[in-house]
Amino acid sequence: MDIEALRRDTPGTAHRTHLNNAGAGLLSGHTLRTVISHLELEAAIGGYEAADRERDRIDAVRGQIARLVGGRADQIALFDNSTHAWNAAFYSMAFEPGDRILTGRAEYGSNVLAYLQAARRTGAEIVVVPDDESGRLDTTALANLLDDRCRLVGVTHVPTSGGLINPAAEIGRLTRAAGVPFLLDATQSVGQFPVDVAELGCDMLTATGRKFLRGPRGTGFLWIHPETPAHREPYVAEIGAATWDGRRGFSWHEGARRFETWEVGWAGVLGLGSAVEQALELGMDAIGRRALRLGARLREGLDAVPGISTHDLGEQRCAIVTCTVDGMAAADTAAALAARGINVSTTDPAQTQFDTENRGVHPLVRLSPHYYNTEDEIDRAVTALAALAAQGRR
Ligand SMILES: *Cc1c(COP(=O)(O)O)cnc(C)c1O
Repeated sequence: MDIEALRRDTPGTAHRTHLNNAGAGLLSGHTLRTVISHLELEAAIGGYEAADRERDRIDAVRGQIARLVGGRADQIALFDNSTHAWNAAFYSMAFEPGDRILTGRAEYGSNVLAYLQAARRTGAEIVVVPDDESGRLDTTALANLLDDRCRLVGVTHVPTSGGLINPAAEIGRLTRAAGVPFLLDATQSVGQFPVDVAELGCDMLTATGRKFLRGPRGTGFLWIHPETPAHREPYVAEIGAATWDGRRGFSWHEGARRFETWEVGWAGVLGLGSAVEQALELGMDAIGRRALRLGARLREGLDAVPGISTHDLGEQRCAIVTCTVDGMAAADTAAALAARGINVSTTDPAQTQFDTENRGVHPLVRLSPHYYNTEDEIDRAVTALAALAAQGRR
């Protein structure tokens, strides 16, 4: 990987040390130009006319995504974010009183709220599978809970709140054997390291464009297996999803398009296609190796500083690094780093409710490098945090 060349084609790297890829990755110049030139085409010849002219490139994006995560192009539905993609899968499932939804402590905030709403509406029960001693979802406990009351296993692969990687492939092996649908929230893992739906054994997978994939904001997608129950009856019927059959009613579009809306921001979709293409060209193996190595360097650097603690769970950990500086609120630490040109963010207790209840550590400072960051930038962040910690100790 030619990091210098990649950085020259990433405008944001010139001005900031961007360690907030779990929030939004920096666009490449190519992706930026792709988005802008489609908007210019819309302005010049009309929005519908621009979509017609770019139809082939637009239609190719689902195939590019399928090459990235596995599966087929007709199993991909485009969305404006990951949450809406996840909602489309989840809300298309039917639950009855006594049905169980199994999830983990790392589950994302919006997913948890959706489970709570489904429980309130239908009498289904939410069961939070405990962690193993490393902090990953405990697959032995999951195996014991997978009985005929289970309608769904919904798991977050990599949480928004830290460096944990949940054992998705092991979970998929268990859910396959039990015949229970497995909905994987891969929002933080797609684009960060290789994710393959066949290898992981999930039935539904959701991701966003803007985070480690480096696509534009306002993009996301769902991969869904045609034989999973949610595929049968999407929760919304509209002209983008179904065709009127006259008095007899309507029929769903073939494949995952039945989950899509009619109106889509095609400039964003084309930008997402550009970002996916770049990830494929660089290779997700190489991207993942470098991103995780930079994460490890950052975590080890911070662990060596007195007055700083890192808080990432799991055995193998990813590029998301969470920490606290003794005596300093996370928001103040993030602001102090921002003043030094270093972009980070903080975890929100309300966005990982079960993890917050369990550990009580949030908010934390969250740093999330990606492959285009340099070792120098990592070391600069460690030095800046060490200086803040030293101030606090004085
Ligand atoms: C960011 C995030 C989401 C939500 O993605 P959006 O594109 O903002 O809807 C879902 N799950 C996880 C784990 C996330 O980190």
